[in-house]
Amino acid sequence: MTSRQKISEESYDVIIIGAGPAGIFAALELTRKNSWSVLLLEKGFDMPKRNCPMRGEGLVGCEVGCRPCSITCGWGGAGAFSDGKLTLSPDVGGWLSDYVGRDSLERLISYVDGIWVEYGAPTTVHGGDQDRIDEIRQRAMLAGLKLIDDPIRHMGTDRCPLVLQAMREDIGGKVEVATRTVVRKIMARSGKVTGVELQDGTRIGARVVIAAPGREGSAWLVEEAERLGIPTANNAVDIGVRVEVPSIVMAPLTEVLYEAKLLHYSRTFEDQVRTFCMNPEGFVSKEAYGEVITVNGHSYSDRQSGYTNFALLVSTRFTEPFKKPIAYGRSIARLANLLGEDIIIQRLGDLQIGQRTTPERLARSAVEPTLKKCTPGDLSFVLPFRHLRDILEMVEALDQLAPGVNSRDTLLYGVEVKFYSARLELSSDLETAIGGLYAAGDGAGVTRGLVQASAAGVIAARAAIAKLGA
Ligand SMILES: Cc1cc2nc3c(=O)[nH]c(=O)nc-3n(C[C@H](O)[C@H](O)[C@H](O)COP(=O)(O)OP(=O)(O)OC[C@H]3O[C@@H](n4cnc5c(N)ncnc54)[C@H](O)[C@@H]3O)c2cc1C
Repeated sequence: MTSRQKISEESYDVIIIGAGPAGIFAALELTRKNSWSVLLLEKGFDMPKRNCPMRGEGLVGCEVGCRPCSITCGWGGAGAFSDGKLTLSPDVGGWLSDYVGRDSLERLISYVDGIWVEYGAPTTVHGGDQDRIDEIRQRAMLAGLKLIDDPIRHMGTDRCPLVLQAMREDIGGKVEVATRTVVRKIMARSGKVTGVELQDGTRIGARVVIAAPGREGSAWLVEEAERLGIPTANNAVDIGVRVEVPSIVMAPLTEVLYEAKLLHYSRTFEDQVRTFCMNPEGFVSKEAYGEVITVNGHSYSDRQSGYTNFALLVSTRFTEPFKKPIAYGRSIARLANLLGEDIIIQRLGDLQIGQRTTPERLARSAVEPTLKKCTPGDLSFVLPFRHLRDILEMVEALDQLAPGVNSRDTLLYGVEVKFYSARLELSSDLETAIGGLYAAGDGAGVTRGLVQASAAGVIAARAAIAKLGA
């Protein structure tokens, strides 16, 4: 293991914590027109040294326990080895419109999208055939579904690291970057930020600090917020299943949209249920959150499965006094792990008539599971009645748009859980109650995707420029 890089100065105009999209775009913005001294600190490895022994094994996350984990840490942040889907809608990938408003967010998305393309993202955007999209939207409305406009620029697993590396090479000459460097504390005096303290005790001064530590650093950031007296609030927790159907069933949607983002408000509970992370011709995979295993899905440019998978997620935002949505989500995932060893698979038809899927019943299914290591079982022993009801009602609605989804052989994998960091209380330009301390990206609980995280970095950087200039 290498030790942290040497840092040349004792004080900077701006320190950025985390080299994910939020931190990188903050650095890019700060260096576009100005010559502030900027230090970017990243606990993981630089791009060429990021290496995960589990990549390609169908498990994203960890069975090995590398520290730092090269999937979530290092230059490029959590999405460096992802499919790299740049979702270009203000309704997807975060809650920044709560801070800057929808129009301003649309302009920001267009701005950061241009920068992704400048560094090598492809020029093609999926979801541009407006006539066919409008036709799907109309049919969706009749089925009680809302189609979210979401043009996607798809970088792909191969291209995403190359684009991030191009940003690295450009930034390298203008900003000091220190990888393998963990920030332990954010320092403040009299309500103003003064710098950061590293894990080895080194203190570095700064007039502005932009904290963008991603989900990897979200628990740390919440602890720091509590220590510094910055209020936080619960975020939602999304719980559901991954659905797998023959690709032909979803083709009317995926051929036009690649990924169809659909929202439904369930009849019984009026809960919001949404489709998430649709993978045409994809593969179902596992994801590890510490000791908890959840389900996920991927698609590759060089392998096609014949099946499409997507998540159906029920979104819940708990109210007072409950403050532990992540613990709630984890305990449901743990229940599936207890009953099914890790992931439970069930035919939809078995769930509907209240019987367990057995290996024999699964073998009779027309859908062959793309995730081989999972246990045929009964998801009704795992998911709360509310979630189960919501999901079954969403499946019925979806079937009107893509006939065949509500079929006996459709496979459900459980459980899929999406945890979001607690939200720090922030001003409209993402400044905390500590003057000069900004929080951006997934770690601050304000975004959950590459594009909005990039936009958050730009918002914080522009505010920092205004503050430094003043
Ligand atoms: C497998 C996977 C696939 C994904 N696919 C997509 C996709 O296709 N499209 C999409 O829009 N989104 C995708 N996402 C989500 C996307 O990656 C994130 O929303 C985005 O990376 C968030 O950016 P960020 O800069 O806020 O945080 P991150 O990208 O998480 O970066 C934060 C960085 O901060 C560093 N850090 C944390 N704490 C410290 C500390 N104390 N000191 C120093 N450094 C620290 C971390 O090492 C990390 O590198 C995916 C995520 C994963 C995990």
